Amino acid sequence: MTPKKIPLRRCNGCGESKPKKELVRVVRAGDGTVSLDLTGKKPGRGAYVCPSAACLAKARKAGRIARALEVSIPGRKKERRMPGNILFALSLCRKAGALVMGFYAVKDSVSKGKAQLVLCAGDLSEGTRRRVGAFCEDWVEVADLPETQFALAQISKKPTGVFAVTDPELAKLCRKNLAAQAANQKEERPCQ
Ligand SMILES: [Zn+2]
Repeated sequence: MTPKKIPLRRCNGCGESKPKKELVRVVRAGDGTVSLDLTGKKPGRGAYVCPSAACLAKARKAGRIARALEVSIPGRKKERRMPGNILFALSLCRKAGALVMGFYAVKDSVSKGKAQLVLCAGDLSEGTRRRVGAFCEDWVEVADLPETQFALAQISKKPTGVFAVTDPELAKLCRKNLAAQAANQKEERPCQ
């Protein structure tokens, strides 16, 4: 085997350099929007973080991701740079190998006691939502996502209505981001 150079990037949380592929890239496009880059190819200024709740919390606390992404745009008020939304949390889960996708896979994960949190797309059919609630019963919390199956395809590659998070810390992050997103939307609505 010929030795191949693996591109390394530094995590904004723990500060360790790791192969680029193992990290999550947050990208800030020219128009100022901050989004996740699951392909690693989105144009824009990027910042990296390990797919772990601990590293994300550290990076967020130190404001390092915000700083790494900061580019002054004249005439534009400062915006929230750190994506505190659920898609971001889910992509971390996926990258960390802690995201189960699809009805049967989720059901299996719940029955084996692995699922920490089950999430349903906003446009999941009522019947399916009921079936999810039934197999989760009192064991696993079920939360509804403010996203459609189509929007969630950016995480799952194809439209998916049911997800389970298997890592307790990442499940906590999902709950937190869900709550933050709901609060933000309430705040923003009157202005729009
Ligand atoms: Zn890290």
